[in-house]
Amino acid sequence: MLAERMKNFSGSKTSGMRNLARKMRSEGINVVNFAAGELDQDTSTSIKDAVREAIEAGRTQYTDTLGIGPLRERIARKVTQKTGVTYTPDEVGFTAGAKQALFNACFVSFQPGDEVIIPAPYWVTFPEQVRLAGAAPVFLETVHNDFQINVDELARLIGPQTRGIILNTPHNPTGVIYPDGVLKKIARLVLKHDMVCLFDECYESLVYTPAAHGNIVKLVPEMKANTILIGSLSKTCCIAGWRAGMVAAPQPILKAMSNLQSHTASNACSLVQYAALVALQPENDAFVSEVLAQLQTQRAIALELIQKIPYLSFVVPTGAFYIYPDVGGLLNRSFHGQRVENVDRLAGMLLEHARIAVVPGSAFGSDRHVRISYAIPAQEIELGLTHLASFVQSLT
Ligand code: PLP
Repeated sequence: MLAERMKNFSGSKTSGMRNLARKMRSEGINVVNFAAGELDQDTSTSIKDAVREAIEAGRTQYTDTLGIGPLRERIARKVTQKTGVTYTPDEVGFTAGAKQALFNACFVSFQPGDEVIIPAPYWVTFPEQVRLAGAAPVFLETVHNDFQINVDELARLIGPQTRGIILNTPHNPTGVIYPDGVLKKIARLVLKHDMVCLFDECYESLVYTPAAHGNIVKLVPEMKANTILIGSLSKTCCIAGWRAGMVAAPQPILKAMSNLQSHTASNACSLVQYAALVALQPENDAFVSEVLAQLQTQRAIALELIQKIPYLSFVVPTGAFYIYPDVGGLLNRSFHGQRVENVDRLAGMLLEHARIAVVPGSAFGSDRHVRISYAIPAQEIELGLTHLASFVQSLT
């Protein structure tokens, strides 16, 4: 009964673990949820007030597909400030989450026969969206290079079919940030081969000093013509469930994305657009700084505890809110006679026996890692990592 394209298509593993952990909690089982890809806290009062006011003002109608005029103006201003390159309101848009912007971007940019390079490990959705567009993902391995892109290796992957590259910095699931020098070199390759660069900076505000996030258009302004910038308010404003994403791209691409969206979802929720107007005001920066300060504390606790756990090694994350430890040292050991065959089995055993939910690296294209999100309360981090340490100690 199913269309051919859906036969090997499965749901997001990150959503799967999150839902499983939530289900166990609703059944009264005390699970520490390291699997969530969002912050465990409320949004700001002013963002909530904006929605209330929009309701009171009767903002119930459809809006322009890519958002109300004032919001597009504000996004354009923000992107112009960030990149130092002028973006007009018809080169930006608002979407139902970055996920929708990314899907639209893939769909209008890639087609059968195209190859799209994605550094691996990767955020779970990138390859699937490339496949849905009929193109083929080509993975650039980074595990051997502490999750950083080796530009020579990237250059060797580029062939006649290569149409695009998807970059995500700060990076999910590894927490690394690509240095400016590397981004500049990648930009030169993109321009030389006239590729499309999807530049996902959903975690751009979640960066721990002294690290700094670089925007590829700011670093190489000619990149504007080849780049689709993707942003999100999900994480920084703690409104993941409201679905608030942003895109900036050259006008023809934006127009195609708008046409596509006009036949699929129409506009993102009108009320959330009014919330975004407030979220993008400078006054909201204080809220984002609070979020970051809190994450900084949670990160320090998590790093201190995790480094004491034997057999685990990790690259210190400098952005986002994930640690991506190498758990290869736990594989093929046994827990009370049960062999830890692979990372999926490990994640299952951790849920069952240590009552912690992590996302297995298989979701992100690596078979010896798990993703741990530290965007949860400090005492939960402590409890969960204590459970992880006991589990590891009991392996034989
Ligand atoms: N891009 C990356 C790298 C992400 O990690 C996520 C969410 O986890 C998204 C995009 C999607 O964000 P949104 O909630 O805005 O759809």
